[in-house]
Amino acid sequence: MFEHLQALPADPILNLMVQYRRDNNPHKVDLGVGVYKDEQGHTGIMHAVTAAETHLLATETTKTYIGPAGAEGFNYHISRLLLGNDHSAIKDQRITVAQTPGGCGALRMAAEFTAKCSPDATVWVSDPTWANHIPLLKGAGLNITEYPYYDGETKGIRFDAMCSALETAKAGDLVLLHGCCHNPSGADLSKVQWDAIAELLIRKNLIPFVDIAYQGLGDGLAEDAYGVRLLADKAPEMLIASSCSKNFGLYRERTGSVMVIAPNQQQAAVTASNLFSIIRGHYSMPPAHGAAIVETILGNAELTKSWDDELTLMRTRILQLRHQLANEMVVTGCAQDFSFIPQQKGMFSFLGINKQQVGQLRDEYSIYMVDSSRINIAGLSAQNLSYVAQSLSSVLKG
Ligand code: PMP
Repeated sequence: MFEHLQALPADPILNLMVQYRRDNNPHKVDLGVGVYKDEQGHTGIMHAVTAAETHLLATETTKTYIGPAGAEGFNYHISRLLLGNDHSAIKDQRITVAQTPGGCGALRMAAEFTAKCSPDATVWVSDPTWANHIPLLKGAGLNITEYPYYDGETKGIRFDAMCSALETAKAGDLVLLHGCCHNPSGADLSKVQWDAIAELLIRKNLIPFVDIAYQGLGDGLAEDAYGVRLLADKAPEMLIASSCSKNFGLYRERTGSVMVIAPNQQQAAVTASNLFSIIRGHYSMPPAHGAAIVETILGNAELTKSWDDELTLMRTRILQLRHQLANEMVVTGCAQDFSFIPQQKGMFSFLGINKQQVGQLRDEYSIYMVDSSRINIAGLSAQNLSYVAQSLSSVLKG
């Protein structure tokens, strides 16, 4: 049966990683892969995570099955981290939470759940959106269509065009929104824009589907949850996919959650039984370790503070790098304006250069990024920042 298969093209980011590894240039810079890096270019383990793991190793007594919803304690803490302690959706018991294998697991389970409830619904995604959104949603058989989002000219959001497109959506369609730190553009909705989107979604009977993978890496833990909390306040039905990969640095531990908000407690119970049955039919239950770490941290005030402090340092570092890159581009005498970089949020921004210029940076300067010119800001550091700025400036002048 394998003879009908055709080889697929290599994943562009993984390909880039291989090319980077093979490059012998001591000045090489990796701005491709979307993981947080420190000043030394290392993706380390957060202190609170190590402390929680040490505690778990000493106290864990069983590895028995845990069930499709995952760990109750994790689900308790993660829903409060996201929505706040006193959110009405939690108090009114309208929310079902399941621990998932990362944000991807959450997105796919939300998609499978949607396909079961509403197979003809369309999911509206931003243009552009994170590349993996498409296979995760399409794999569940959902229809996808795009709404305008990032404007390569103004480096901001095409908000009027976005709203006009969503006005044409049919009742019951889903709108996938990035909770914060839009990947790939770094262009986030302002509070006023979130308010307007919430009004539009409710008025048109559209279902919000929020993917939040970078809470705490934009403006702060509560600030980054503004949109998701607002929509959870107003919308009778909503889906949320969250990830602990970036803000807890748990990438390979595959830790995330899917949340479904129903109009009332009775429907929430029906929702829960269906969601858990879908999970059971896919991977039965999620891996335990990453969620146990998060539960240990969020269940302990001292560890929570340590984690929050370290997350604040990461966020501050990213913001400083954004300012430094914009300033350094001025220093190089580059005619092009990069003042948009510090206005954007989270780990990513588009440099706004073309594919050929991206290729030139890679081939002539060993600076690696994906063809769209999206860069991982955290890949910059004091050692490489002026090299990157000068190289970029040369490519733009050339
Ligand atoms: N959503 C977005 C927008 C992302 O950027 C990511 C990670 N790159 C995820 C979801 C999910 O990540 P993970 O499955 O590693 O938790």
